[in-house]
Amino acid sequence: MKGVVYHGEHHVEVDDVEEPTIQSPTDAILDITTTCICGSDLHMYEGRTDAEPGIVFGHENMGVIEEVGDGVDGLEVGDRVVLPFNVACGHCQNCEEGKTGFCTNVNPSGGVPAGGAYGYVGMGPYQGGQAEKLRIPYADFNALTLPGEPEDEYEESFALLADIFPTGWHGTELADLQPGESVAIFGAGPVGQMAAYSAKIKGASKIYIVDRVGSRLDLAAEHSDAVPINFEEGDPVKQIENDFGGEVDKGVDAVGYQALDPDTDVGSDAYDPARENPAVVLNQLIDVVKPKGQLGIVGLYVPSDPGAPNEMAAQGRLGIDFGKLFEKGQQLGTGQCDVKKYNRYLRDLIAEDVADPSFVVTHETGLDEAPDLYERFDNRDEDVLKVLLKP
Ligand code: NAD
Ligand code: ZN
Repeated sequence: MKGVVYHGEHHVEVDDVEEPTIQSPTDAILDITTTCICGSDLHMYEGRTDAEPGIVFGHENMGVIEEVGDGVDGLEVGDRVVLPFNVACGHCQNCEEGKTGFCTNVNPSGGVPAGGAYGYVGMGPYQGGQAEKLRIPYADFNALTLPGEPEDEYEESFALLADIFPTGWHGTELADLQPGESVAIFGAGPVGQMAAYSAKIKGASKIYIVDRVGSRLDLAAEHSDAVPINFEEGDPVKQIENDFGGEVDKGVDAVGYQALDPDTDVGSDAYDPARENPAVVLNQLIDVVKPKGQLGIVGLYVPSDPGAPNEMAAQGRLGIDFGKLFEKGQQLGTGQCDVKKYNRYLRDLIAEDVADPSFVVTHETGLDEAPDLYERFDNRDEDVLKVLLKP
């Protein structure tokens, strides 16, 4: 079968890859209908992780069950499902407590300290789903069944349940965003869009969204009533405080360690890694959120970055204003999203037509176009926000 394979920095190809088979009675095989490209894939694509060539990418997967192992009793051939990007066992302490992003059973070979994912460096031996088929471990636990028919009008929205809708929601949960509160969201990529949309659903009174890409800012204004803040037009903290009249209640980081430093090379249109400062968004959040406020950090941070701007950052150590955070008595929450904690409820918001996150989807295309779309998404091309692949 065909799959999107990492060949090295800025290089993916569609190759013949091994077809998955049932390896354990609790496995199922998924026939993929939709699989998405994620901003998290770009860290690997850019050579900014320890990913080795040969990985089949793809952690945002949905499709139809094609085969089930003898130990699977909650799924049937033909069921339409979406999978959390996390692979989780369902019976370790963390899984039992709903912390499925930190399953202690699925990543025995090391990598990250806890948690697994499909097609991601350090996240266990699970082939990705940017391919025709995928093996689902612990299928009863990991597959969320969906109403309707494959490729119906909900296909795009349901596909976003694998990662970005729950992850955006998780950003607002980590910040403990309450109805009526104000929030500043850094990053207007797919995750930032979903954080802003979640904030709107939760009844935030004021939503700020910070980025440099005009089309992304406009989209958040249109669909999530967010106030757009372009960090290349001036210090985003000052812009927010001037508009709001002070600090906001809560903050969300939907950027991560590859954050661009607004103080560098303003005016250049190119997305330039030399402009990065991995602590800049965290420090701006500490600044712009009020004392006793909370920060939800879903943007990715890594313990080792081969392309880091300096030696300290290469070891995942950042220059964070911890003293100021302490003085302000702020709390912060981080980590991979526990998708399973939210996906059932977000599915129902979609199925009942309360939420429609599909406004972020800009491209739907076959696997063959993946290399081109990786390049354009990586350039933060104004036209490319969320790419859905249809193997
Ligand atoms: P993306 O790269 O498309 O979006 C990042 C956005 O941040 C871009 O639009 C970029 O222009 C903007 N940006 C860069 N520097 C900035 C700055 N200083 N201030 C404000 N905005 C800035 O990626 P995405 O798909 O939206 O993902 C965002 C982050 O979330 C990534 O780090 C990704 O790895 C991470 N992520 C985490 C989880 C999780 O479970 N925690 C899940 C999915 C994605
Ligand atoms: Zn993702």
